[in-house]
Amino acid sequence: MIRTVLGDLDPAQLGTTNTHEHLFQVSPLLPGDELDDEQRSGEEARMLRDSGFAAMIDATPYGLGRDPEALARISAATGLRIVATTGRHREAHYAAEHPTRQWSVEQLTELFVHDITRGMPVADAAVESASEQQAVAVHDGSPVRAGILKGGIDYWHISGFERTTLLALAAAHRRTGAAIMVHLEFCTGAHEVLDLLAAEGVPSNRVLLAHADRDPDAGLHTSLAERGAFLGYDGFARPRTRSDAELLDLTAEVVSRGAGDRVVLGGDVARRTRYIAYGGMPGLAFLGTRYLPRLRALVGDGAVDRMLVANPARLLTLSH
Ligand SMILES: [Zn+2]
Repeated sequence: MIRTVLGDLDPAQLGTTNTHEHLFQVSPLLPGDELDDEQRSGEEARMLRDSGFAAMIDATPYGLGRDPEALARISAATGLRIVATTGRHREAHYAAEHPTRQWSVEQLTELFVHDITRGMPVADAAVESASEQQAVAVHDGSPVRAGILKGGIDYWHISGFERTTLLALAAAHRRTGAAIMVHLEFCTGAHEVLDLLAAEGVPSNRVLLAHADRDPDAGLHTSLAERGAFLGYDGFARPRTRSDAELLDLTAEVVSRGAGDRVVLGGDVARRTRYIAYGGMPGLAFLGTRYLPRLRALVGDGAVDRMLVANPARLLTLSH
């Protein structure tokens, strides 16, 4: 089963999936780029759906402005299937006084497992202590639950905070079977993260390396794919750092080396100044309307459909 904000789903029903966007996100690292308006985020979700997507992962983990009840309302209104995230982002996203800085592996594990099995808190900001009883988000009488775990590390660095998160994610994975998305800076530390998680009982084929394309090295990617890891390509429309032309070439090369069954796609647009509904550009529809036609012309429909449908369904299926 795949766990969406509106309930569990047969993986065959998931459909075309964008594996990395944010409908809600508030981080001290991104001042002025808050995604916190349900109506506007809902409009943007509708544009994503109309660009050809049936499903998305909302990749915002604990403490960064999640709004599970709003996600459920947007999903119900648009028909877009949404998988919500639990976990903790890389350390830089959390203020110096953030309460979870003091939490142990065990406390974090309980939070993550609770989000997946029983339901997410209505508002993360209200959570002061892992032992406190929290109001669970509800839609139409059912709890709104997360369906994927997430952590993150820094550029060639795993801080104590981030290592604690990874250990808790592994423990939560062992209990729930949910996949683990890991935010990487320029794809650094990818093998090291897979090693750390494998030592904790997480097979690499349950791990999605988000932003792998920030180091467009087909050899590196093939070596990660050979271990079974999923490669998140989600850096389109950022010509200041890397042209889409380079990402198209990378994808063609990785597919030709036989690793196309490990690639998943997302936009990770993530900032209100990049959302059309908030008055910015290019919006969540960019991937479907501008990039995918070029990718299809280059590698063919079969390869692209695997990246959009079969690969995300395999990743998101709870392994027990
Ligand atoms: Zn993101």
